[in-house]
Amino acid sequence: MPISRRNFIGKTAGLGALAAVSPVSLSAQDRRDVTSHLIDAAQQPVLDQTQFKEPVIIESIDLLRKGKQHYVRVRSKDGAEGISLDNNRAQYLAPIFLQRVAPFFIGKDARLLEDHLWELYRWGSNYKLQGLAFWSPVAWVEFAILDLLGRVADKSMGELLGGVIRKRVPFYVASGRRDTTPEEEIDYLRGLIDETGAKAIKYRVGGRMSRNEDALPGRTPKLIELSRKELGDAMAIHADSNSSYDPPQAIEVGRMLEDIGAVYFEEPCPFDHLEDTRKVTDTLSIPVAGGEQEYSQWRFQWAIENRAVDIVQPDLHYYGGLIRSIRVSRMAELLNIPTTVHISGGFGFIYMLHFASRTPKIGGWQEYKRNIEDYADWFDPPLRIENGSLTVPEGPGVGIVDTNRVLEGTERIEA
Ligand SMILES: [Mg+2]
Repeated sequence: MPISRRNFIGKTAGLGALAAVSPVSLSAQDRRDVTSHLIDAAQQPVLDQTQFKEPVIIESIDLLRKGKQHYVRVRSKDGAEGISLDNNRAQYLAPIFLQRVAPFFIGKDARLLEDHLWELYRWGSNYKLQGLAFWSPVAWVEFAILDLLGRVADKSMGELLGGVIRKRVPFYVASGRRDTTPEEEIDYLRGLIDETGAKAIKYRVGGRMSRNEDALPGRTPKLIELSRKELGDAMAIHADSNSSYDPPQAIEVGRMLEDIGAVYFEEPCPFDHLEDTRKVTDTLSIPVAGGEQEYSQWRFQWAIENRAVDIVQPDLHYYGGLIRSIRVSRMAELLNIPTTVHISGGFGFIYMLHFASRTPKIGGWQEYKRNIEDYADWFDPPLRIENGSLTVPEGPGVGIVDTNRVLEGTERIEA
């Protein structure tokens, strides 16, 4: 079998000779070796408990609301506190948080958070809720506990979770629109670039879960062509179809993106159709990205092992937090696959920054959906954009200096 581009990429990976061979051509034994390496990588502890001398017993967990934004506040028996911001889904997922997630943690030692994530999944048969509606509430509490632990240990989330290796994170600014003509979209993208100083952008192609239909007739090919022509050769272009295509159509659009030298093609096929996605990945030379709706470690393992995608994108909220997402990145890294996390919620990019601060292989640009000004002065020094990069928050935990100020005016939601 000739060495393909993907096989060549694998040659630099930690699995050495095994990673250098396409999964389909491996012997059964070699295939089992790859699988067991991935599972081992995912099972290594992420949170080192020896960073804490004393138990950190959780005394209370509150869900708070101000407008549409929800917050979680965790307090320990010793008076330590941590908070998190939701991804704008607590408006309807609050009962799952209040009934199925928060009570489990009361009286537990926060240092054992990693073990608790597994027990919580079993607790009261929570695994029957497996999916984004379960893991988002878990992420809110995970972020708040990590904030609390960071404040106890006087370490940022990145330091807490293995050590900070970068303090600036290049980003792409995401458009998120489909209601534009190609010409209007280019104008809109120019505005985003002017506003943020981004060196990279992402726009939407296809019609979103649309069975091959475009958002407007002919929008996608025209937008792809115009984007390179109008935004210049230096712009790093990302495109996301949000599950719009079957493989033949995805391959056609992917070829157009190859022609303009785009960075990657995100979610070409229905997100949970891993086999169809793999067909597209196998055929195209442009990297295919996906995983923002994924909730299962086993399915991520399958996607990585079978190269269903070239870039994995767990969403830090939808997938249940930083620890679980780091496990995915460890599996991916073994096969030389970057983990470029997806973000949800206005504050989500802050958790992305902490993830990116400690994760070796994150890809070239991370997602940013604007509005840094809403949060920048919560941090010291204030968060800022420098030359197309975001600065990583400093200080303990998530880095918010005055949590009382952030929580001022909130009301507590009762179970
Ligand atoms: Mg997407």
